[in-house]
Amino acid sequence: MAVLGRDGIIYYLNGGNDDELYSTADNLRQSSFGQEVYLRAIVEFSNVCNKKCNYCGLRAPNSKVSRYRMGIDEIIESACMAAEAGARTIVLQSGDDFSYSPAQIADIISRIKESHDVAVTLSLGDRSAAEYKQWFNCGADRCLLKLETTDADIYEKIRCGENFHERMELLRSLQEIGYEVGSGIIVGLPDYTVEQLADDLLFLSNLELDMIAAGPFIPHPDTPYSPAVTGDIDISFRFTALARLLNPFSNIPATSALDSFDSEGRKKGLQRGCNVIMPSVTPVGQRKDYNIYPGKNSVSVDVVDTISRAEELVRALDFIPSASKGSSRRMNNVQ
Ligand code: SAM
Ligand code: SF4
Repeated sequence: MAVLGRDGIIYYLNGGNDDELYSTADNLRQSSFGQEVYLRAIVEFSNVCNKKCNYCGLRAPNSKVSRYRMGIDEIIESACMAAEAGARTIVLQSGDDFSYSPAQIADIISRIKESHDVAVTLSLGDRSAAEYKQWFNCGADRCLLKLETTDADIYEKIRCGENFHERMELLRSLQEIGYEVGSGIIVGLPDYTVEQLADDLLFLSNLELDMIAAGPFIPHPDTPYSPAVTGDIDISFRFTALARLLNPFSNIPATSALDSFDSEGRKKGLQRGCNVIMPSVTPVGQRKDYNIYPGKNSVSVDVVDTISRAEELVRALDFIPSASKGSSRRMNNVQ
């Protein structure tokens, strides 16, 4: 195996030796997690967003989106149905929709935690550190806050004027509060370079993340990036395999964006170092409107079917859908 400094990373990102990279990543996943794969069930409870990210179909200026906001009881019911179907982690995700008050989010978290023995992950965007602290105190376990790129200038451009350092500060606050924290990037944003991706990978690997999420960019027709070239799925696989090599114990999802390119995309991700899948358990009526990119949530089956299909996918690879919450192993295994 080439040494994994910046030059080595660039060598593998460019396809220098895929067989070696993927088999090493697979062996490392196996020694860190055995045959277990974690399922994280996502409830996408609102597609309303006050941001203008140039890459995302939910951006506020996109008037073609049919917007929805699920009610508090409906969100809890969806989470509980997923838990009863076997999910041990519930991810609450939305656009940056600040119409839900801190007390309402706290209520959702507390009621899910009271009724089921599950971990709750928040993926709610740029809410304040004080709000995240309040939700941690109600029992929320994890946060997912992607940097999307680790270059401050590119960040400002792709997120339409947002500030990279503020996002980083929030990420650090989440770690200080005590959350298990996930972050990541989008692979193949317009004008990306392999050198930038190598820098992203090194930057993320220095953050001591419990989860690293990286999926390919898929242009959405109703965004400023609609004419852009779709991210390269092979580079995306290589990125997550390299992330495994540099972060043996971090959770790394095979993102659903992979399946938009290749019906076997998530399977291949799991065979190349990933150990998590994140099926959407958003109610069928709303699911297709959580249209971050084309092809997202194109399968409309109910919650029970969604979980059992995810479990089948895992078993078909001779992996085991984990019965545990899949808490971070990173802290117990830092070398
Ligand atoms: N609003 C929150 C935020 O931005 O952190 C959470 C929801 S946002 C829809 C979840 C993730 O979708 C983002 O972190 C981004 O990585 C991903 N995403 C959005 N548009 C995408 C696209 N066109 N291709 C691939 N991933 C995309
Ligand atoms: Fe909103 Fe998140 Fe999409 Fe940006 S990525 S437009 S913050 S939902």
